Formats: sequence, C-alpha cells, structure tokens
Amino acid sequence: MDPRPWSFSRLELYADPRYGCPRRYYYRYVEGRSEAPTPALLRGRLAHGVLALCLRDGLSVEEAASRVAGAEELDNEIREEALDLARGYLEAERPSPPFEVERKVRGVLDGEEFVGFIDLIEGGPVPRLTDFKTSWEKYGPLDSYQLPLYAWMAGAGQARVRLWFLRYRREPALEAEVGPGEIEAALDWARGVMRDIRRAEEEPLWSGFPPRPGGVCSECGFALECLGAEALGEATPEDLAGLVLRLERALQVCRERLEEVVKAAGPVAAGNQYFGMYPRSRWVFPDVAAFCDLLRRHGRDPWKYLEVPGWKLAPLLRGKLGEAIKALGEETVEAYFTHRDRPPDGAPAGNS
Ligand code: SF4
Repeated sequence: MDPRPWSFSRLELYADPRYGCPRRYYYRYVEGRSEAPTPALLRGRLAHGVLALCLRDGLSVEEAASRVAGAEELDNEIREEALDLARGYLEAERPSPPFEVERKVRGVLDGEEFVGFIDLIEGGPVPRLTDFKTSWEKYGPLDSYQLPLYAWMAGAGQARVRLWFLRYRREPALEAEVGPGEIEAALDWARGVMRDIRRAEEEPLWSGFPPRPGGVCSECGFALECLGAEALGEATPEDLAGLVLRLERALQVCRERLEEVVKAAGPVAAGNQYFGMYPRSRWVFPDVAAFCDLLRRHGRDPWKYLEVPGWKLAPLLRGKLGEAIKALGEETVEAYFTHRDRPPDGAPAGNS
C-alpha cells in the first residue's frame, strides 16, 4: 500500500476513462517509480511557479522565472511559452484581495488523508477557487470532481470554482457554483475509486491494474515495462538498435492489419484515440509566382509554405540546372534520428 496521501490526480490516473491508466497507476503508486517529466509538465510547472510568485510577492514575470528552481535549464521554447502563459493571466486580471496562492489543503476521507493544492483562493463570504490549466483542451469546472474535492478540503460548504485556461486569451475562464450536493457526489466518487484501488491491490502483482491504452500512452514513462520489455534497461546499444528494427516491422504489420479492418468496418477506438481514414489535403498551384505574390502582398513569407524536401530536389541539383536552383533557394540541413544501410558521412565509428 502506498503511504502517500490520496489526491485527485492520483485517483484520476487510476479511474479516468480518457486520461487514466490503471497499469500506469500501478508503476507509479504501487511500485513507487517515478517518470521523467514531459515537456507539457515542465511548461505547466514553470507557468504555475511564476504565477504564484508574481501574485504572492508582486514580482515581474522575469524576476519570478529567475527564482523558480530549474527554470534556467529548461529548453528555451518551453520556458518562453510558460512565461507567455503566465503573462496572459496577469494582463487579463488581478485577483481580488484577500487571496492566497498555491494553498495546500487537506481532508480526511474514511480515515485516510487526502491532499490538494489550490492555485488561487479569493476570499469573501463565498470563496472563489481557481485552478490554472496549461492544456489546450477546454472543459467545464464540473466535468471532473477536482474542484468539488478542493472546495471540500478548503472547508467551503459553498464555493465558486473556476478553471482558467492560460492558452486562451479570449474567454479563458469557465466558472460554476459548488454546494453540498456537488461535494457529496465528489466524495462518493473518491470513496468508490479508493475502494476499487484497494481491491486491485489484493490481486497478485499487477493483474488488478490492466493497461488502458489511449492518448495517455504518448506521455507515459512506463511504455517498455507495459510491453514486458523491462529488461531493456540493461540492454547494450546494439540490442536497442536490433529491437528498434524488430519493433518497426512489428508496428508496420500491426498498422497494416488494423488499416484493413478500418477500411472494411470503420474506425477502431483505443481509449480516447480513434484509428480511421482521415483526409489529408494537398494543394497544387499551377501559377506558383502568383501564389508567392499573393502571400507577399499579405505580409507572409511564401517560403514557409513552399518547402521542397531535399530528397525530391536531389536529382535536379546537378549541372547548370542545379547551380541555378541553388542560387534561387536556401537549403537548411537538420540532423534527425533514423537508420540507413550505411553510417552518416563523417561520423565516428561509434558503436558499429
Ligand atoms: S504505455 Fe499506455 S497502456 Fe501502458 S502503462 Fe503507459 S499509459 Fe498505460
């Protein structure tokens, strides 16, 4: 049994049909293993940390960023995006005093401790609780039990609750009222999930925690363990390269089989992901010059929309035509990870 207190995100990881996965829960909470933070998580942490410092201590976004641990080592794109998200909120509103930020709240449910962090609590006869979100997906404050549980832990029998979607400058906040009915429903849900988890823990090993593949897999740190390939932690680079080749082929076979099914019988769902035949459009401009002129007149750089892959152009890059093409265009070469039947030019012998 995991000695850590219960939290909404812990229950959601086990129970949510769209974003949860019982097997991932098992690795994280039963085995107590950690996952490397994803770019989305790092971005979210920085945006939350900066907002808390700006609101609590009156710092500027830049000052706040310099005080958030680890912010300097982050990839520049993640850092800038996080700061921009924080700026968006600060430009849109200032909380009404008295308020508190990142307040740790606690409750006891059936004798067990429950904790949460509320991003912003504004006082008043009916307090307003706000949770900042950095995801693109927008949903209502009562579409999950998170905010009613926060209201319960904050000791508010009645509260206004808000989700503030930092990526949306227009209409970022969705608000609702929470009362005893919503709080009781949330507590019932939490009790039910805690019971299911306790029951699953009685099963041998992970059998009570089945994998639930879906969009959640794209950020899961336990994908190898989930496929039974855990021993790869000890694998040599050659073993890994061999496995990639076999997995690529296995993936191709799976995709081909699934595509046949989809073409014959329609989309197939795995969690919140749907395999199906989606349209992919392609534009051809018989008069490319006219297209370029049009974009320029509207202040757009045509080259952003007219990229030619190097492999396609390669046969033309010889002789006089090649010279003329090179004089017209600009080549950008980036290194990318793949495998071919010979090592990259000029590469050291490495592991081969
Ligand atoms: S890879 Fe997907 S199914 Fe497996 S544990 Fe992770 S989230 Fe669950």
